[in-house]
Amino acid sequence: SAWVAAHGGTGSRLVVLAGPTAVGKGTVAGYIRDNHPDVKLSVSATTRKPRPGEVEGEHYFFVDDAEFDRLIAEGELLEWATVHNASRYGTPRGPVDDAIRAGSSVLLEIDIQGARAVREAMPEATLIFLQPPTWDELVRRLVGRGTEGPAEQQRRLETAKVELEAASEFDHEVVNRDVAEAAQKVVDLMKPTKPLGRAR
Ligand code: 5GP
Repeated sequence: SAWVAAHGGTGSRLVVLAGPTAVGKGTVAGYIRDNHPDVKLSVSATTRKPRPGEVEGEHYFFVDDAEFDRLIAEGELLEWATVHNASRYGTPRGPVDDAIRAGSSVLLEIDIQGARAVREAMPEATLIFLQPPTWDELVRRLVGRGTEGPAEQQRRLETAKVELEAASEFDHEVVNRDVAEAAQKVVDLMKPTKPLGRAR
């Protein structure tokens, strides 16, 4: 593929960080954004509204439904998914291709459906599954952040149970016990000297 050609010999890699709801993917990605400025993080497009403190082009590209439809139609998204039956999220293809072509590794923080789609599109990608230390801790984090009501919490926990079973499809697992430690493990897995994902 064109990606393999671009990828040849540079040691750069496309790395996907995924995991169940409330495991702290966003927190780990945010930590990497703030503390590892050398790491290229893909900025997703989303139809959800910005939260306080979120910066256009830094955390997301905030677009409306018509624009998201256009991105899909023009083939500008490497993958996209509707997450939690609500908003749509997608990875812009251009910046990822550019990074790989330039010999840089790039990190995608996306949901599990997205990780599967990337594996289909780019089998060379390295997939990292972020694990909660325990199931009880995952429940504690979801309830503790208080961003969802009880019914939605219940629904997300059902989803999380199913999502945890996807771990075996991934190349690596990182336990999110401590954010800085988990972030460091992800950054280490992005280094070209590390062995590639398991052979398939
Ligand atoms: P949030 O709205 O809390 O920022 O993110 C909600 C979910 O969307 C998270 O699970 C996050 O990983 C996922 N997500 C963010 N960007 C993308 C993307 O480009 N593609 C996919 N498939 N999921 C994404």
